Amino acid sequence: MKILATDLDRTLLPNGSWPVDEYAIELFNEWTAKQGVLVVYVTGRNLDLTEKAIDEFGVRFPDILCGDVGTTIRHYENNAWSKDLGWVEHVHHMSPGWNNSAIRSALEGVEGLREQESEHQNEFKQSYYVDHQNHETIMRKVESLVGGSFDEVLVYSFDSSNGNGLLDVLPASATKQTSLEYVAKVYDAGKDVVFCGDSGNDVFPLTAGFLGVMVRNADEQLVKQVMTAKLNNDALKIYHAKGNFKGLNGYYVSGVLEGAYHYGVLDDSVELTTFPIK
Ligand SMILES: [Mg+2]
Repeated sequence: MKILATDLDRTLLPNGSWPVDEYAIELFNEWTAKQGVLVVYVTGRNLDLTEKAIDEFGVRFPDILCGDVGTTIRHYENNAWSKDLGWVEHVHHMSPGWNNSAIRSALEGVEGLREQESEHQNEFKQSYYVDHQNHETIMRKVESLVGGSFDEVLVYSFDSSNGNGLLDVLPASATKQTSLEYVAKVYDAGKDVVFCGDSGNDVFPLTAGFLGVMVRNADEQLVKQVMTAKLNNDALKIYHAKGNFKGLNGYYVSGVLEGAYHYGVLDDSVELTTFPIK
């Protein structure tokens, strides 16, 4: 089974400041369905915000949602979601030291750190807003307070749309990267797994050995990190969308389609009725 996995915000979804190809989302919906690839959304969004995105932008439902930065996995079948309980068991097994309430206590009162709203927390995700100006000092403090005692990993990102620094404390076994690895194994995808991203925490799945795609609007910092990883490991497969592909410009979903086609996960064997308009 071939897998087309993608981040949502500013990768599949055109919610940034770059130009958007009209009908590119319709083309994605039609092409992935007719080609029969397994579509996986790998996102920081929770289920509720993912459904809002599907509704707002008209992207199809995925077959699988690795949501909440990979801490939850859900299957979408017959118009209904079901939680992957095997994943929950797997994470408990792989990260036995994980304890979100102990982490919460350990990080209480750190200056410049503010706990996110309850809908952004779950049993495998303890998340904070961070004063971005001072994030290096704050992150050092956080590291000294938790420092690997909970089998955790600290993922820092910056939301350029509102200037918020974001910290996710996650079990080391439950991230965007590991959730996709789990899905690839369950569906026996072998090497046929494309992952597309644009920023921040996409660096891990992009450098984990999947067929990596950076959309054309990928941020500079991500491009730099991925290229450094590529210098250290020549076997990494990375494609940076550039546009000029079947009339598409390479931004957002257009870059997803270009990258998937580059790796042969989408091809010309299916007859399509949607055409993009520049
Ligand atoms: Mg993104």
